[in-house]
Amino acid sequence: MSFDLASRLAERRAAHLFRQRPLLQSPQSPLVWVDGCQLLAFCSNDYLGLASHPEVIRALQQGAEQWGVGGGASHLVIGHSTPHHELEEALAEFTGRPRALLFSTGYMANLAAVTALVGQGDTVLEDRINHASLLDAGLLSGARFSRYLHNDAASLGSRLEKATGNTLVVTDGVFSMDGDLADLPALCAQARSRDAWVMVDDAHGFGPLGANGGGIVEHFGLGADDVQVLVGTLGKAFGTAGAFVAGSEELIETLIQFSRPYIYTTSQPPALACATLKSLELLRTEHWRREHLDKLIARFRQGAAEIGLQLMESPTPIQPILIGDSARALQLSELLKARGLLVGAIRPPTVPAGSARLRVTLSAAHSETQLEQLLEALAECWPLLPAEAAHG
Ligand SMILES: *Cc1c(COP(=O)(O)O)cnc(C)c1O
Repeated sequence: MSFDLASRLAERRAAHLFRQRPLLQSPQSPLVWVDGCQLLAFCSNDYLGLASHPEVIRALQQGAEQWGVGGGASHLVIGHSTPHHELEEALAEFTGRPRALLFSTGYMANLAAVTALVGQGDTVLEDRINHASLLDAGLLSGARFSRYLHNDAASLGSRLEKATGNTLVVTDGVFSMDGDLADLPALCAQARSRDAWVMVDDAHGFGPLGANGGGIVEHFGLGADDVQVLVGTLGKAFGTAGAFVAGSEELIETLIQFSRPYIYTTSQPPALACATLKSLELLRTEHWRREHLDKLIARFRQGAAEIGLQLMESPTPIQPILIGDSARALQLSELLKARGLLVGAIRPPTVPAGSARLRVTLSAAHSETQLEQLLEALAECWPLLPAEAAHG
């Protein structure tokens, strides 16, 4: 008996699913150096252009001067410092929830929230294309786990009828690989009629969506009675790192007391919380970033439709071009790269089989000229893509 890793890797290569990490040799920005080439990138989640903002960098530097580098210990021991606490208070105020709790990553925040709320005898219902961290959290919880059809309140309703124990409905706010919005008004109404709670992971909605960047709940005007558990991540539009869960006093205290992914880990560096306090201020107040981004989104959709590309129902900076076949998605990505553009091909298992795509993401840091460069390159490359094989 042995671990036959070589043939697992060979199979993955043969299926055009082998993944390679591009080596980034410059800071986050529309223009990047990757593997020795300068490229115009449309694949970062830095939607508002805050990851390399001079004031955010300065806040991190000053935070390190004042608070040192390491968090030192877990929050419950001696790792919960003043910047963490101030950031939690600012995030609670920002989300209009009584309290917020800071985590080092979104993956951990999701594991923490789901596993603290449901267990054996309970039920967790998730959108079938939820982020992997939400699906993993559901499985880890030990609750009855079922996935409903994408964004389908009727499909959720039929599962709610069979639910037992405490029932948690879990959805992405903005779906990370499709860019569409969860139909929260309909999903929350279904949940309420069955006394289920709703948890929304709005990793991609905070920043771009809502009048003040408050994400999908601000967009739809939903309060803590509709969405009891609200998760945001800080590594995307906030441009820093970490995540938070916002909700009632009792929810947050429950996570502090019972949530293993919260209790048994070192706090994030306090200087990072200083940086996020600054980026939160910029995200809320610099409305021009959202306005410029909305203009870029509208222009991209119009230009892409003229080329004949298949877009998805997305009003967000995530604008996937649906290709289908993994090999063809890679080919289009390579053709663009040869013209100086970086757009990632997203393949199964990140997306369902047969739905490989180029995941174009737009940022407030892109200029209109850079967007035109992308559209011109797509217009050139799209006709060069070989036709799909009959059984590709
Ligand atoms: C990125 C992402 C996460 C994970 O957040 P990290 O802070 O990167 O661990 C969770 N949920 C969704 C929907 C995401 O897109």
